[in-house]
Amino acid sequence: MKNNSVAVVLLLLAAGVHSFGFDELTRYVDTHKEEYVQALREWVAVESDSSDITKRSELHRMMELVVEKLQHLGGKVEMVDIGMQELPDGSTVALPKVVTAEFGSNVSDVTVCVYGHVDVQPAQKEDGWSTDPYNLTDINGNLYGRGASDNKAPVLAWIHAVEAYQALKIDLPVNVKFIIEGMEETGSNGLAAMIEAQKDTFFSDVDYIIISDCGWLSSRPALTYGTRGNCYFLAEVEGPKQDLHSGVHGGTVIEPMTDLIGILDTMISPDGSILIPGIMDAVSAFSHDEWRFYQDIEFDMDSYRAKIGVDQLMYNNKTELLAHRWRYPTVSIHGIEGAFSAPGTKTVIPAKVTAKFSIRQVPDMDPAVVEKQVTDHLHSEFAKRKSPNKLKVRMVIGAKPWLADPKHPLYQAGKAAVKRAFNTEPDLIREGGTIPIARTFQDVTEKNIIMLPIGGFDDGLHSQNEKMSRYNYIEGTKLFIAYLHEVAQITKD
Ligand code: MN
Ligand code: MN
Repeated sequence: MKNNSVAVVLLLLAAGVHSFGFDELTRYVDTHKEEYVQALREWVAVESDSSDITKRSELHRMMELVVEKLQHLGGKVEMVDIGMQELPDGSTVALPKVVTAEFGSNVSDVTVCVYGHVDVQPAQKEDGWSTDPYNLTDINGNLYGRGASDNKAPVLAWIHAVEAYQALKIDLPVNVKFIIEGMEETGSNGLAAMIEAQKDTFFSDVDYIIISDCGWLSSRPALTYGTRGNCYFLAEVEGPKQDLHSGVHGGTVIEPMTDLIGILDTMISPDGSILIPGIMDAVSAFSHDEWRFYQDIEFDMDSYRAKIGVDQLMYNNKTELLAHRWRYPTVSIHGIEGAFSAPGTKTVIPAKVTAKFSIRQVPDMDPAVVEKQVTDHLHSEFAKRKSPNKLKVRMVIGAKPWLADPKHPLYQAGKAAVKRAFNTEPDLIREGGTIPIARTFQDVTEKNIIMLPIGGFDDGLHSQNEKMSRYNYIEGTKLFIAYLHEVAQITKD
């Protein structure tokens, strides 16, 4: 501000514009973008695969790099021990510590807490990557590397947003806290307990939680206000004491596979309707307000259809399709353990088969109720078959959905920040997938949450050739800078 002439300040005040140095901040980002790309290259080079126990030292090193980066900015940084992970063989190994940091502690200011993760999904060149997944490679402005979009670049963008304010000696408009974990890709082992334990300490003065761990729907920026949950089931049918020859024994036994396929087929109809009694009863009604959001969303049915490579989609209009992707439940059958799935023509009658299927559930469904409805339904269908085989149904994951109020000031601040950084209106979207941590934050801390993504719609998370575009990374940093300013305008609730 001190460099601006009085006339300019008066002009801005007269125009009702809050000048907080946004132009100066974005110029700073533009002149430092190569450093930001280099920082991402250093982080992507660490094979912080949380699912592979042999990579655990890399994961610990990754957390140390996060600490270094945050300490460099002068934050109050801590590494929180979240205990041990028990392995299937009974042995234990240390979980990566959770990193927390605090910038500013002005009690009259809003305090936001940014959540992110720096562990990644597995990746090997042999999986079909065009480049070395751990060597960030720039091709036509896209930065390819495992974890680039999920979630290393967004975490760095938040840190760089704070750094820009500091470098230009512009006061941070809000207090900023960070909570960065290293076990997200395997279910955030230990994090819920840590959040619970720090509810009245680290989280006590937090007003809002920001998660930037998802992507836009199109080339237009988006604000995400909901995710679906996931109830994952195993249904096992057991028959003969061992696998049988289908020529010798076929025709003499009631086959477990026939039973299993039969009951699986009673869960969902070809037109996508879920047939399990009661399951749709709790699904919240599609409101007119919601319908209106959907009308404004930029989404091309044909390019979506082409991208996933199908001739026909389940629904023919945008609203219905997106609603079924985001706010209605669905049943997906994932696989059958014990089935003969290798190439060849083995003539076997499998003795025991276990189906794996899941229900992406939505507000206001309750996983415990879903578990009972599914279990009762499968047992009742199985009973109709009068089979001598044995059925066991178990729900092994019961992750709840999350939903925010898109009219909350947090989202108004998001709209204003998108307007400032991109000069456009954001899409208000939901995620079809599950981000359990959002619901955990909501349930434990009772804070309002916003998902503010900067990932592109085609970043290929968890897939081969994951990337983050330079555009999304750099402009996303500016979005975060703008957001810190906009969220400071909210009157604390
Ligand atoms: Mn993620
Ligand atoms: Mn992920």
